[in-house]
Amino acid sequence: MKHHGLREEVAHVAKRLIDSGLVTGTSGNVSARTPEGEVLVTPSGIDYEVLEPEDVVLVDIEGTVVEGALEPSSETPMHTGIYRVRAEVGAVVHTHSIYATTLACLGWPIPPVHYMLTTLSGDGQVPLAPYTTYGTEELAGYAGDALGEGCNACLLQNHGTVTVGAHPEEAFARTVVLEEMAEIYYRTRIAGEPVLLSPGQIEEVAAKISGYGQAKPASTDNRG
Ligand code: 13P
Ligand code: ZN
Repeated sequence: MKHHGLREEVAHVAKRLIDSGLVTGTSGNVSARTPEGEVLVTPSGIDYEVLEPEDVVLVDIEGTVVEGALEPSSETPMHTGIYRVRAEVGAVVHTHSIYATTLACLGWPIPPVHYMLTTLSGDGQVPLAPYTTYGTEELAGYAGDALGEGCNACLLQNHGTVTVGAHPEEAFARTVVLEEMAEIYYRTRIAGEPVLLSPGQIEEVAAKISGYGQAKPASTDNRG
């Protein structure tokens, strides 16, 4: 079976979504773009606890199954739709995480309430895509429009979240940030009126944060 490493990454992120509490039961889905431009997507309605790398379904960029015994995610049109319009995206994660989905059900996009939002979107805001039935081409279009050319996260009204990244771990990490930001924004709205960052403050931090983070050097410890 092709793409074993990438299948493992997709299945690993699916399990991390369960372990982190961002996904419960069979809600949510994960996908990754293969080097050949096809898409590996989690199967529909399968508990991630029992998901194996070989259960991940290979579809083409239009969503037609290429390889796999199971049905692909019902949100395959949303995943493939995003890959079609965003050439740099290598992975997509969809969840119904509690705080972000609470905001989506309130109809509240996230304004620039915290500097870490600039890792999700250059303007420090997380947009809200309009509601439509799950699994439809219409939802795929709304999500693609909300993400636009450069946004890494959006909310889906009365439904959940979408994040994108270069690879599954990056899309997962952005889901974690999105949920944290959603909780902070929700709590500030409940407690009072959040102080928002100005466009100038967002611009400054967005430029700085693009260089944030570092790789741990390979170990030089040769003992044993
Ligand atoms: P699947 O189980 O088909 O991936 O769907 C879950 C979901 O979240 C639909 O929006
Ligand atoms: Zn969903």
